[in-house]
Amino acid sequence: MPQEVFQKSAEAILDFNGIGLSILEISHRSKDFVAVMDEARAIVKRLMNLGDDYEVLYLGGGASLQFLMVPYNLMKVENGKAAYLDTGTWAAGAIKEAKNFGTVDVVGSSKEQKYSFIPKDYTVGSEYDYFHCTSNNTIYGTQMKLFPKVDTLMVCDMSSDIFSRVIDYSQFDLIYAGAQKNMGPAGVTLVVVKKSILGHTGRTIPSILNYQSHIDKESMYNTPPVFPVYTTLLTLQHLEKNGGIAAAEARNEAKAKLLYDEIDRNPLLETFCQKEDRSLMNVSFQLLDESKKDEFDAAWKAAGISGLNGHRSLGGYRASLYNALPIESVQVLVEVMKNLK
Ligand SMILES: *Cc1c(COP(=O)(O)O)cnc(C)c1O
Repeated sequence: MPQEVFQKSAEAILDFNGIGLSILEISHRSKDFVAVMDEARAIVKRLMNLGDDYEVLYLGGGASLQFLMVPYNLMKVENGKAAYLDTGTWAAGAIKEAKNFGTVDVVGSSKEQKYSFIPKDYTVGSEYDYFHCTSNNTIYGTQMKLFPKVDTLMVCDMSSDIFSRVIDYSQFDLIYAGAQKNMGPAGVTLVVVKKSILGHTGRTIPSILNYQSHIDKESMYNTPPVFPVYTTLLTLQHLEKNGGIAAAEARNEAKAKLLYDEIDRNPLLETFCQKEDRSLMNVSFQLLDESKKDEFDAAWKAAGISGLNGHRSLGGYRASLYNALPIESVQVLVEVMKNLK
């Protein structure tokens, strides 16, 4: 997260808006926090260029709860059927939950090839209640560059690349993202939903799991995660002030290019995935010569880099280049790579 955001949120812990109370102790019904929530919802629509047919919600439960809320709210009770794209561990998690509600057709999967690419050769017809995809596969380092035209509702888990690149957000009917990758601290999940898609399942939905209850109460159906919402707002304000998504995309492309160019040049390194599907956010790579592992690990640690180990399910290494990461940090890693002989 941006340093400026840490600074401001730290100040708000001591004294929020000069009211003599901490953000950690104010009522979520206080006018100061209601203003935070209102702006946190409004700024998302501005950044995404979305109109009043969409609602923005901040919910608890993580992106994983959305794996369940999506089918609960969108899959029809009678002959419910949804299409899913299986591009990684998180996509598979979403598929597993949806199966509790109806038929799930996996229209494309790269599982047998260790999720090393994004399947592209599939169609989704109107027999489906919705189509679900994952825009960026955090673990495998792949990213959907294009989204398919489907004949049904389009749902996307954007947890790890939301606000990182210019896309037409209006092609989606529902977007969700855990804050903790590209927006703010853990504890809140952003949901952007087109209002007209709700209420058509014929299902009784428990209130807390019903998007409509949260919409009706302007994301205050129950106590929202106050501090994560505030910190997310600060991050999004920082993004807006610094040129919005287009400027973030340019910075992200420069960072990713620097790193991929070195991986492609370096005979000791290789990405896990196909070139055309490489992620701008998570660069997952491996050493081709395992005998260099100790030397490489010692070198990046000595350079002050932390958290470079890959996800436990894949191994290797992963450099996450989220919006707030400065290009100077990537330069440090590239130097370490260049010195590996
Ligand atoms: C991290 C991640 C999740 C899981 O998020 P939680 O908030 O921990 O439930 C889901 N999807 C994607 C794409 C992720 O990167």
